[in-house]
Amino acid sequence: MWVVPVCDWQRWEVILNGFLKGGLALGGAVVALGALRRALNPPPRYAPWEKPRYEEFENKVLVVGGGFGGFTAAKQICERIKDREDIGVLVVAKDNFFTFWPMVAGIVSSDIDSRNVAQPLRRALITAGASFRRASLRKVDAKNNQVTVDGGVEFPYDHLVLSLGGLPNFFGIPGVEEHSLTMRGIEDAEKVRNRVIERFEEVSLMRGEIPESKLTFVVIGGGATGVETASEIYNLVHEALEPDYPNIDPHRVRIFLLEAMDHILPELDPSLRRAARTRLVNQRIEVQTGAMAEEITADCVKLKGGETIPTENVVWTAGNRPNVAIEDLDDLPVDEKNGINVDEYLRVQGYHNIWAIGDCAAIPDVTSENGQIIPPNAQAAVQEGKALAKNIVAAIDGREDELEPFEYKPLGQLVELGSDFAVNEVMGVRFTGTLAAIFWRMAYLTRLDSPQSKLHQMADWVLGFLVRPAVTSVRGTSEE
Ligand SMILES: Cc1cc2nc3c(=O)[nH]c(=O)nc-3n(C[C@H](O)[C@H](O)[C@H](O)COP(=O)(O)OP(=O)(O)OC[C@H]3O[C@@H](n4cnc5c(N)ncnc54)[C@H](O)[C@@H]3O)c2cc1C
Repeated sequence: MWVVPVCDWQRWEVILNGFLKGGLALGGAVVALGALRRALNPPPRYAPWEKPRYEEFENKVLVVGGGFGGFTAAKQICERIKDREDIGVLVVAKDNFFTFWPMVAGIVSSDIDSRNVAQPLRRALITAGASFRRASLRKVDAKNNQVTVDGGVEFPYDHLVLSLGGLPNFFGIPGVEEHSLTMRGIEDAEKVRNRVIERFEEVSLMRGEIPESKLTFVVIGGGATGVETASEIYNLVHEALEPDYPNIDPHRVRIFLLEAMDHILPELDPSLRRAARTRLVNQRIEVQTGAMAEEITADCVKLKGGETIPTENVVWTAGNRPNVAIEDLDDLPVDEKNGINVDEYLRVQGYHNIWAIGDCAAIPDVTSENGQIIPPNAQAAVQEGKALAKNIVAAIDGREDELEPFEYKPLGQLVELGSDFAVNEVMGVRFTGTLAAIFWRMAYLTRLDSPQSKLHQMADWVLGFLVRPAVTSVRGTSEE
């Protein structure tokens, strides 16, 4: 007997529709992912075979320094000249990454990964249309419009921008340079973390009386960097290390924050200062104001007035100064304390084609009546970079009357004290606590330049919320 197959069209139709819908959804997802990938990986302005050499451009802008000031200036100039072929931009910097300073302190507790703080310069600059060379500045020859870098390599310029940043200031206090760690970079923050871990390892091997100096950590300087560093040391000790070193009594660890002035965080409103101090005290951080360090030795900090704190672990955050490299630049008007003197258009005094911004420049505050200088901070450097880009393009085009005086507009201050507390002032609004900490994270996450860093850091923070941090010091990267 023949069996005639019965065709259940309705069933087939349902299956076919399912396939079609699934295919459409998959296709849509592939197209969307492709668009996202293209948005996250914009092609460079010039294909490698099309790009003229920097020296071949009619107008050459040389930016020395690739930090907040130099990087912003270079990117903004490229943005303004993207339809022009007559201006070439070259950035020369000592590092091939840009340090995202506000996140540096977070490296101490491992709340922030160093690779997310080091923002790659090359990719961003090449994409924008600029060139990049990693080298340190050696000499500026203003007569011949030429700069010399490592190895005697020379670069010509029509306009030169100097944005070399700052360095720690030790104020000549005996022993500071020899016996303290600084917080002037990613490696420094890693050294502070490694020092704390090494002390824990050392103490866990000791028998008998443990010298107080081993587990006493002293941060000198009550500005934002000092406050954040002390808080991060607390987090490292009590959140990451304490459970992993059961033979060390955590109450033996003492963290001091010393400030020579009468209050910490002088740049903040008194209500925020009080909130920050209460938080530090709750973290058992011993805050001493009016405490002036007179000498630092291998095993103590001596304070003015005679008090001595036994410690083998000092972190110095108390002072900054312009990069000393500017002092070797012949003939430029340099004020050792504040930096290269520039006019209100950000042009170095006495030079029509040399400009300076950021922490290495003494920029007059046009809004102040008593001739104040603009404070050295990241938001000022970014605003200066933007203003400079506009002025430099106007100067190249001979539109001197269109140069605009730089006016700094402070947007606020954000200071994080651990992952769940911050004190913020944003456009006059003050807030503290966990919401402020979330705001701190979102604000800085969006400002990271590299999309990879944004995604990595976001994932790290989510993971850090779920899993207690486990930290180690890799021998070889440790300073000891
Ligand atoms: C730990 C820390 C935390 C901070 N946190 C904040 C914050 O939260 N908010 C804020 O507003 N400000 C903060 N600041 C201040 C802020 O980082 C600086 O004001 C800002 O980076 C200044 O920008 P800049 O371009 O002048 O210098 P930088 O950003 O430091 O860049 C300097 C550039 O110059 C290059 N360079 C240096 N020497 C040479 C040389 N000899 N030759 C060639 N290149 C050279 C460097 O490689 C770098 O590319 C912080 C500073 C520190 C140290």
